[in-house]
Amino acid sequence: MRLVVVGGVAAGTKAAARARRVNPRLEITVYQEEPEPSISECGLPYLLSGTVSGRRRLVARTPEEFARDGIRVLVRHRVEEVRPEEGRLLVRDLAAGSVFEDRYDRLVLATGARAVPLGVPGSGLEGVFNLRFLTDADRILDHIRRHRPRRALVVGGGYVGLEVAENLRLLGMEVVLAQRPRRVATAYDPEISRRIEEHLRERGVELRTGAEVEELRGDGRVREARISGEAVEAGLVVAGVGIEPEVDLARRAGARIGTTGAVWTDRHQRTSLPEVWAAGDCAQTRNRITGGPAWVPLGDTANQTGRVAGTNAALGEDAEEFPGVLGTGIFKVFDLAAGKTGLSEAEAAGAGLEAVAATIESRSRAGYYPGAGRVLLKLVAERGSGRLLGAQALGPGADKLTDVCATALWGGLSCSDLINVDLAYAPPYGPVLSPVIQAATVLQ
Ligand code: FAD
Repeated sequence: MRLVVVGGVAAGTKAAARARRVNPRLEITVYQEEPEPSISECGLPYLLSGTVSGRRRLVARTPEEFARDGIRVLVRHRVEEVRPEEGRLLVRDLAAGSVFEDRYDRLVLATGARAVPLGVPGSGLEGVFNLRFLTDADRILDHIRRHRPRRALVVGGGYVGLEVAENLRLLGMEVVLAQRPRRVATAYDPEISRRIEEHLRERGVELRTGAEVEELRGDGRVREARISGEAVEAGLVVAGVGIEPEVDLARRAGARIGTTGAVWTDRHQRTSLPEVWAAGDCAQTRNRITGGPAWVPLGDTANQTGRVAGTNAALGEDAEEFPGVLGTGIFKVFDLAAGKTGLSEAEAAGAGLEAVAATIESRSRAGYYPGAGRVLLKLVAERGSGRLLGAQALGPGADKLTDVCATALWGGLSCSDLINVDLAYAPPYGPVLSPVIQAATVLQ
């Protein structure tokens, strides 16, 4: 019985490792286009600043390490075609430049996502990058080493753009962050975005929101950008203007593509093709709150869906189910942590839910205990029932608050449940009543 996995980062390697555990007799091959498997892409921004030193630390397992578990990982191999009716694949060996045929009994698609190119005139100049893979970070670092740019332009104020802006600033560069939307972190509600923007400015990032990057100019190498008609010096440009699911292979093989643009999967990560599963950033899943389709391209979800796909593909049956996502996420920008779970107020309205919201300001420690910082927590709940719909947290301890709320959402708790929830308290860790309880009290 032969299992082939296409894509060897979070979802693909998790699926392969899980399949091996569940079915020791399975023959497993992973094809991975990039030169390394198992890359921790979430660590890439920190590699730029040297906060994480040494690229090897971002490769969780090498092909040799996989081989010890009987998993064959072939890097620099791109699967170019899947023929589901024959159980066959066409694979290009990128190093040798040759194409060969392989066969599978079961297939897991874990082709991930690709960065949306900036697509303005001059995007092809040297010194203009996306940051998706380790090889992108290699190229950015090489450019910085060779040309020592004084000023960088980051395009896009989503979490990748914000993390890149921080890490380039830590290298001592002047950083301009420009984007079309009028505020950064648009997945969050405006009060959160405003605080993030204040913090960015305090830390020396020049913000240009509601701005259009129209053109990049240079003499082969990027030197400046024209942003809403104004020339801005930039010796390095990193674009974080979004990603899209990598579904070309699946689409050409005849797999159903979901309304989110990612590969449609059922609750067992099965695609519409026989004996083919999909997991990670290429796959569509379900939103647990709205019940609708969801595409949440995040590392933890990639691992979780990879595990489910690996189990089910190894056994050839619907043994494990993936229950869907809340869209929980967190990022850090300089000294500020911002976390979110479930729906923002705007998303709740967009989903046709009548929502109420409360935003409270609290402290990260008891008022009398030294070193307390400001914490902001926003809860969104369904009007009438008080069912929690989402939460956004900002400041020290945002990780804990986000995770408490994610667990409450998962369990379907309402604000009246949260008022009496028994959470840990001691002065160094928070106020006597957690911000979660404080905000739930306002909404009750
Ligand atoms: P990918 O990581 O996209 O890997 C898919 C692989 O498949 C790629 O290497 C690709 O080359 C290969 N492939 C595609 N097509 C083929 C083919 N036809 N043949 C062979 N190989 C193919 N998530 C978080 O949860 N928290 C974070 O803090 C966070 N930070 C991030 C920071 C950055 C800068 C980036 C880029 C991502 C971050 N993420 C974060 C997202 C997280 O990294 C992804 O969700 C996760 O890597 C998805 O894993 P995946 O295996 O589904 O896809």
